[in-house]
Order: sequence, then structure tokens, then C-alpha cells
Amino acid sequence: MSSAWIYKAAWVIPVDRPPIENGVVEVHDGLITAVRPAMPHEPGHDLGDMAILPGLINAHAHLEFSLVEQPFQPTQRFTDWIRSLVAYRRRVFTPASTDQCVALNIGAIEAGLSGTTLLGEIATSDWDELFLPTHGPRVVAFRELIGLQSAVMEQQIEIAEEWLTRKAQLAPVTYGLSPHAPYSVAPELLRRVVDLATRFDAPVAMHLAETRGELEFLMHGRGEFVEMLKSFGAWPEGGFALGRRPLDILQTLADAPRALVVHGNYLSDEEIDFIAAHTQMSVVYCPRTHEFFGHEPHPWRQLLARGANVALGTDGRGSNPDLSLWNELVFLRERFPDVAPCTLLELGTLAGARALGCEHECGTITPGKRADLVTISLTESGDPLEQLFVTGRPMLIETAGKSASSV
Ligand SMILES: [Zn+2]
Repeated sequence: MSSAWIYKAAWVIPVDRPPIENGVVEVHDGLITAVRPAMPHEPGHDLGDMAILPGLINAHAHLEFSLVEQPFQPTQRFTDWIRSLVAYRRRVFTPASTDQCVALNIGAIEAGLSGTTLLGEIATSDWDELFLPTHGPRVVAFRELIGLQSAVMEQQIEIAEEWLTRKAQLAPVTYGLSPHAPYSVAPELLRRVVDLATRFDAPVAMHLAETRGELEFLMHGRGEFVEMLKSFGAWPEGGFALGRRPLDILQTLADAPRALVVHGNYLSDEEIDFIAAHTQMSVVYCPRTHEFFGHEPHPWRQLLARGANVALGTDGRGSNPDLSLWNELVFLRERFPDVAPCTLLELGTLAGARALGCEHECGTITPGKRADLVTISLTESGDPLEQLFVTGRPMLIETAGKSASSV
């Protein structure tokens, strides 16, 4: 049955153009058909002193850790944190466990309740789209691939190819690939994954330039990652190619149809310029995770100043207290009051859509796009963007299944 709906609110904030006071969003069959000022005495669903915003976009999460109550410790050495994470996975995700199923479900619901309508998720071996809630955010699921030794390379490529040929069963899912990180993926595997993604027109996400230890490892083949890989029995028989920088990895990633550089905490000027020059590439900044590890200042404003696309992610609950993208925006607003709120809102919406290759269907309130809409209450008059991050949390507007007679 066809459905049509008119929403009125004190403000509509489309993101791709200035806020509209006393605005209207018209929706037909789940798509936005008009965004405009309200006419006098116009009928419709009046939301009162609210702002209507596009749904939020969380470009990087690990929902499998959604049942973790406190982020993993310790964090002084990044590899110690990884060891805690790996120990958790081994302890909790046994073959008979249903915890991963529950974690994906709960995590997607949590993200949805905080206004997230699209989420970039890293999927490991037990991940299944059937675990996702039917009414949660849509998901771009990046299959994690790990391999330093030639013996596992063929198996990883097989997994990747099978992943990209999957069809969603119940949940709306797009499939991508995630070669995990430069210290866990051999250059040859990365090359082949990017080639495969190109063949399937799929996005690629990779953790990169995350720690100083990673840079030391790439350049000199020494430091904490050597010790960790040896203890995991993952040290490659032929050793590592040395003298590399994140730029070398970026040059391979640039061949993918879309590439998400996850974290990018320690990108150099040259690497920032490289990303800015490749519009299919984005950096995903995870603000509270970045703070959790006590990293040096993140170069997100330099990236923006040079025209790069910067999306936001929550990362998983292994390094963040919750999965609310809204809380990332509030955090940024408090820490960086000099950054315009409209810029922050764009990071949490349109930039995320661009990163995930969905900017033609979501990320702004624009006719022709999906009616992924959230509301947030405004308590005072004046510039709605100035109030936005102090007034509460966003609520989803349910646009599916509404009857035409409701208008
Ligand atoms: Zn991650």
C-alpha cells in the first residue's frame, strides 16, 4: 500500500542547504518528495518545537563487542589492548555461544535509538546479517580479512569473494571488504583485496595510521607489533617489507571504488594531501576512541581544510562507552567550540554517506533520497544549529508503513 506523510516542525535542517524555519518534509513511500517552508494552516503531522535532521551515519563500528560493559584495558601499549580484545573473543565467542548474535542485535538497536540510520560495520567470521534487527539501521558490512602468511592468502581471498557474492536475506545490507590493518595484512593480500573490491564495485575499509607503533613497524620492522605477532604465531616466514609508510598503503587503497581510512590518527601532511586529492577516499575519525587511547591531536581539521572527506565513527564498545554517533558530535562540540555546528552535523551525516558510497540515497534531507529522518527538541528560539548539541538526543521518525490516510 502506498503511503504519504507530511511532517512539520519549527525547523528543518537539510544539511545541504540552510535551515528552514517552520519547515515541512513530505515523504512518499519512504522517499523524500519535498522540503520547503510550511504554508499557512497546512495540514500534516506537526512536531512542534523540534528540528528535523537527516539520520546520523556511523561510518565505523564493531557491533560484535556491543555486550562489553567497559572498554578493554590496558591502553598504554596498543598491543596490550589488542590482546585483551582477542582474549575476550576467545572467551566469549565459542562455537556454541549465541553472544555474537545477541551483540549484533543489541548493538544495532542501540545505534538506531540514538538516531543512526546507516552504519559501517566490521564483520568477522561468525557475523551473519540475520542477527541484525529488522528495523535497525541499514548496514554496510565490511568483511574483516587478516593474513600475513602466504598459506592463508588464498583462503582469505575465497572468503572475500564469497562475501561479495552474498545477497541480503532479511536485513538491508551492502557488502564491502576490510583488510584489517597494515600490521596484519600482507601487501600482496591488500592488493588482491582491492582488485576484488574493484571487480565487485565494493567499498574497502582499513585501519591505518592508528598508532606511532604502527608507523615504526612499517618503517623499521620493530617495536610492540613484532612481539605481538610472534606470540600469536602470525609472524610471516619471509619477514616484512620495511621502509614503508601509510602513504604506500594509501596508494593501493586509492584503486578501490571507495576507501575508508579508519582512524588516520598519525597521517602526515603528504598523506593528508594524497587523501584530499582522491575524492573516493575518506578518513573515519572516531573521536571518543581517539581520546580513550590518549593519542596526539587528530588531524581532522587539517583534512577538512584541504578538502578531504572526514566521516565519524563510534568504533566498538571495546574502546568507547556506547554506540551513539550523536554522543560523538556532542563530544566534538564541547572540545572544539570554534568549529561551526553545521560542519559537525555534516560530518555525522553527509560525510558518512559519502564515505560509505551512499550519498545519492541518504545523508541530507533532499527530494529523491530516503526518508531517514530524526528529530531533536529545541528549547529556545534563535539559531537552531547553536542549540542542537545541548538539547537532548535525536529520535527516529518512523516513516515506513504509515498510511496515506494519516496525512
Ligand atoms: Zn575498528
